[in-house]
Amino acid sequence: MEKIYGRSQILGEKQTSYCPGCPYGNVLKITCDAAEELGLKDSLVVSNGVGCFDNTPAIVKLPTFSGPHGRLAAVATGFKRCQPDTPLLLFQGDGDCAGIGLMETITAANRGENFTVMMFNNLNFAMTGGQMAPTTLVGMKTSTCKQGRDPSDKGYPMRVAEMIATLDAPKLVARVALYDPKHILEFKAILKKALEIQINGGGYSFIEILSSCPTNWHMKPQQAYDHVRDTVTKTFPLGIFKSPEA
Ligand code: SF4
Repeated sequence: MEKIYGRSQILGEKQTSYCPGCPYGNVLKITCDAAEELGLKDSLVVSNGVGCFDNTPAIVKLPTFSGPHGRLAAVATGFKRCQPDTPLLLFQGDGDCAGIGLMETITAANRGENFTVMMFNNLNFAMTGGQMAPTTLVGMKTSTCKQGRDPSDKGYPMRVAEMIATLDAPKLVARVALYDPKHILEFKAILKKALEIQINGGGYSFIEILSSCPTNWHMKPQQAYDHVRDTVTKTFPLGIFKSPEA
């Protein structure tokens, strides 16, 4: 039986600074549980890009490092090549990973760097005030496309997981969601699988996580979860796009 409740030993006591209804606190809890269950609580290093996950180092009792906006995959490459036996997990938002850092993300995936990337897709640059991101839905209003994203001059939402799955090197590529307990547990199972691949020397994994952002979506928390389930998954379908078993 998967554990959902109870405090992980590596989850700190400090209160998060996330907005009410943001799923990120839950993500940290699940991540710490997964690391503990895999016996990684004394070895896992987590690395956060620039975004709402910035305060991760204050919350988890794990070694952490960060990198310049969008450049985390390059910094992580250097770290991992110096410490190949240290399991490494990256937390990145879609603005960081797919916007500013798309080149670093794709080239690290294409090299098959032996680390695990979690990209939180909440359709906008959340920390900086809700600007349009590559993932913003067609017609969605943000602070930089107030009439709604118009693909005629702003292009279409970018499906990063599917793009990475076309590359030869990545071992596991998936898109998961957090809108109910069933999907949270599926996320945890995929995360554990990705970390197992990494610690066995298997290579790069990319997990795109559909995440709600009630603050910048101007929705109540439950409404934002429902929006992910009912609307966001139509543009960003859930699934495992690449795995060692496939
Ligand atoms: S701005 Fe959005 S993603 Fe950032 S903490 Fe608030 S709800 Fe979460």
